[in-house]
Amino acid sequence: MRLLIVEDEKRLALSLAKGLTAEGYAVDVVHDGLEGLHRAGEGVYDLVILDIMLPGMNGYRVCAALRAAGHDVPILMLTAKDGEYDEAEGLDTGADDYLTKPFSYVVLVARVKALLRRRGTAGASPVRVVGDLKVDTAARRVFLTEREITLTAKEFSVLEQLVVRAGEVVSKSDILEHVWDFAYEGDPNIVEVYVSTLRRKLGAHLIKTVRGAGYRLEAG
Ligand code: CA
Repeated sequence: MRLLIVEDEKRLALSLAKGLTAEGYAVDVVHDGLEGLHRAGEGVYDLVILDIMLPGMNGYRVCAALRAAGHDVPILMLTAKDGEYDEAEGLDTGADDYLTKPFSYVVLVARVKALLRRRGTAGASPVRVVGDLKVDTAARRVFLTEREITLTAKEFSVLEQLVVRAGEVVSKSDILEHVWDFAYEGDPNIVEVYVSTLRRKLGAHLIKTVRGAGYRLEAG
């Protein structure tokens, strides 16, 4: 899961990013409304956390522009305490939820998870089964023939990208985009390292290499 934070208060943005990264999300941060619109418009994010008072373009206009362009990414708006903009106004522009500053980090994480879960269950069950493998994308738990397998947050995120598109070829760059943030400047072959760890933990047969194209998760 990849999240975008659009927030010009840099300390707040960075502490949110740090916390959400520790939860296992890939997190990108921008501090300007126009840049936020540009990034979110790339369509690679699973959720956007959007402040209202921003340089460049305010959060309402960013949200409205994304909706007008047909993007349905969940948007959590951060509103100011002074009620300069009210809740109804935030929801009218197409935001999915709002949070009034100052908020507790625990509440923010709960709202993020609820929005991602709502989105996940709107289309399909959060539990994906492929052969002997069962992945609960909401609880972030993995079972192989009913035995729970312990994965790190990053290992889970890589597996999640494969399992939600089971039977399809998923390219290394798709996995990189969704699991690592744009500040990652290391070797893109890191994906191979994670896939080989997953094969070791889950058995070599589940994740097929499709030469020159990527990986495909399939039963048997
Ligand atoms: Ca602000």
